[in-house]
Amino acid sequence: MAAKRALPLWAETNPAERIALIERVQTIYAARSEDMAKAISEEMGAPIDLARTRQAPAALRHMTNFLEAMKTFEFVRPLGPHAPNDRILVEPIGVVGLITPWNWPMSQVALKVIPALLTGCAMILKPSEYAALSSTLLAEIIHEAGAPEGVFNLVHGTGEEAGTALVTHPDVSMISFTGSTGAGRAVLRGAAETFKRVALELGGKGANLIFADSDDQAVERGVRQCFSNSGQSCNAPTRMLVERSLYEDAVETARRVAESIEVGASNLPGSHLGPVVSARQYDRVQSLIEAGISEGARLVAGGLGRPAGLNRGCFVKPTVFADVGPQMTIAQQEIFGPVLSITPFDSEEEAIAIANDTPYGLTHYVQSQDTERRKRVARRLQSGMVEMNGQFRGAGAPFGGVKHSGLAREGGIWGLEEFTTVKSVSGWG
Ligand code: NAP
Repeated sequence: MAAKRALPLWAETNPAERIALIERVQTIYAARSEDMAKAISEEMGAPIDLARTRQAPAALRHMTNFLEAMKTFEFVRPLGPHAPNDRILVEPIGVVGLITPWNWPMSQVALKVIPALLTGCAMILKPSEYAALSSTLLAEIIHEAGAPEGVFNLVHGTGEEAGTALVTHPDVSMISFTGSTGAGRAVLRGAAETFKRVALELGGKGANLIFADSDDQAVERGVRQCFSNSGQSCNAPTRMLVERSLYEDAVETARRVAESIEVGASNLPGSHLGPVVSARQYDRVQSLIEAGISEGARLVAGGLGRPAGLNRGCFVKPTVFADVGPQMTIAQQEIFGPVLSITPFDSEEEAIAIANDTPYGLTHYVQSQDTERRKRVARRLQSGMVEMNGQFRGAGAPFGGVKHSGLAREGGIWGLEEFTTVKSVSGWG
């Protein structure tokens, strides 16, 4: 295996050499960012402006953040003053298999490939079959940047075939997987036979807790965040929980915003929503909208079928349901389409209970002007991330979930640590 052959030399390189490689990758990637945006738009349907402004640049941002994290990342660490002759050696875990989805393709690939390269691992990347173009372009960039032969390898193929081969291969020490919770469970099982480390970034069902003292933009911001990327984001705030006194106003705002959002082809400029990724995904979203209607949620905007004027293609109407019971299918299952559900609550306690009452725990959101309440609620939400009052996570913050949303943290120092193993050595000096 090429990666296995390349590992020993790469693992022993000086970190400065690996940093220099990523700096070259970054320069070439920046020069080819228009090609990257076009590849992403073509493969998974993101509108070209979204691909240019957010999808393609995400990888560059990750590179900058990992390079920053490397400035303080120590590969040889003291244990402490009580044991002056001990050292902790932080070593690359080995050959790693990286399996990624299609929804933010370069963001997810960069969150794995860049820290794996920086820590001295050799790797095999298997991207989604729906996002093969962007990864092929990245492979060209890494090659042009001068990565030693065999350090970075790309394989295309389905999860069932290529993915399973990586998960079960005895020479692969770790699988870093981003995708659905169901596939993550299969990966965890498959890796058990060879005792691999498994890092999982899985699905989500984000709750957005909107209290009566939230800022004026909170509802509109939440609706737009839910629909961004046609609702195909693991951390989308898909369940809007609204304090009763604000509830009908919020429902009306959500209807107005949803009906003002345009849907159209990916190659058109502008900030409209594109299609969902595939006919299979379109059918799945439609069946979940149907479940919302049949289980008695109030359809406020959108609904079944394509938006007016779009007779073919995987276009979904921006859809809003109100009066969604916390146990309804649309409140429990990840939809991965532009569908928002709104549920009223009467107390902080009830809002937290509803937010925590799904198998997922990726990102939750809180909107309130009361600082003490925000701190209290953030502590009690079962999730890997909490975003409050529209403030986005800072550079290098750990990304990942709890419960069925995953077993890992990506980004910054945490993302580097994932790809290493520690060796405790005594009698060092
Ligand atoms: P998916 O169907 O689970 O596929 C993800 C990747 O895993 C693809 O490359 C897929 O291959 C492969 N795969 C599928 N089954 C596998 C198996 N049994 N063994 C090994 N590999 C396997 O997910 P998706 O539809 O691409 O992506 C959407 C999902 O990803 C959503 O659930 C979303 O929430 C989640 N996601 C999570 C995060 C996060 O950071 N937590 C970020 C983004 C997306 P093929 O599809 O090519 O066959």
